[in-house]
Amino acid sequence: MDNRVNRFLEKAKVSAEMLASKTGRAATQAATSAGKTATSVVGTTKLNLQIFDLNTEIEILYKEIGKMVYAVHKGGESDQSELQVKLDLIDEKLEKIEALREQISQAKTGPICPNCGRECGAEDAFCRNCGAQL
Ligand SMILES: [Zn+2]
Repeated sequence: MDNRVNRFLEKAKVSAEMLASKTGRAATQAATSAGKTATSVVGTTKLNLQIFDLNTEIEILYKEIGKMVYAVHKGGESDQSELQVKLDLIDEKLEKIEALREQISQAKTGPICPNCGRECGAEDAFCRNCGAQL
């Protein structure tokens, strides 16, 4: 049982480090590929940094939950309400990350509308302004 808890905590630590380096690289790549206009670089980088911060906060919560699990294993009191608060916080932060990713995909420069000339999102099939097919 002790070993299992230890492995769990060790894994949490490793995945937090991996996540940190991965997200950092993603932010750099996004900034490089979006280098067409200064504003889109700043915007996307800012969003990526927000995602990075949220991921870091989530990893901290994971670790805290891990510590709580360990404390219970050691015969400590289990505080279900505190656990629930942390789980809810994680859900909340994951939702924010999802929303930020959505914003980033829309911020990516996509095709120019052949009808009205508006710059559309990279994933758009139709112009958001006039509805023409892209
Ligand atoms: Zn259009």
